[in-house]
Amino acid sequence: MQKQLNIVLFGPPGAGKGTQSEGIINRYHLTHISTGDLFRKHLGEGTALGQEAQKYMDHGKLVPDKIVIGMVEEKISTTPDTNGFIFDGFPRTVHQAKALDQLLESIKVSITVMISLEVPEEELKTRLRLRAKTSGRTDDQDDGKILTRINEYREKTLPVASYYDQQDKLVGINGVGSIDKIFDMVCEVLDPKFELT
Ligand code: AMP
Repeated sequence: MQKQLNIVLFGPPGAGKGTQSEGIINRYHLTHISTGDLFRKHLGEGTALGQEAQKYMDHGKLVPDKIVIGMVEEKISTTPDTNGFIFDGFPRTVHQAKALDQLLESIKVSITVMISLEVPEEELKTRLRLRAKTSGRTDDQDDGKILTRINEYREKTLPVASYYDQQDKLVGINGVGSIDKIFDMVCEVLDPKFELT
């Protein structure tokens, strides 16, 4: 077994990736890489990368692969000592997934498992409309943007699940229910990999 364990937390917008990430990071001491959070940080700091990303984020569209991959590469290369990474909201295209495999290969590690949080579309829309009231995120604020994000997911991101399935790394988890119950199911998958059982 490799020393570093790397997890992809996968699912549509509103599936609960951010919420479940918090629990996973605390339990397994992983380095969190959320590309959405990184973009929002750049935006807040007014960097050139943030301004470029904003053009896409404001419309609910995916930011071009080249920009996303460069940002993740920078984060990985500046985090030398870690138990592993949890990738949250990345990869979102098959091209990104292939680039991530190559990046990890260059440091002699790989993705251990992809956890896919499964939530029906109607439930996602309800959650995102609710989140809009408190998140302050412009891309939660109108139905058009929410629909664009769900469509982007369906067209460009869903094939990423098949990519990991072909490598026998995909585990689907029902993302509807209490946060604690879903977390228990996540731990059932991850504990054996981290030898915490
Ligand atoms: P999130 O916080 O993961 O919902 O991401 C918010 C927005 O950031 C998305 O709607 C995209 O515009 C952009 N984004 C985040 N991660 C990626 C990614 N891996 N590929 C392309 N765009 C991304």
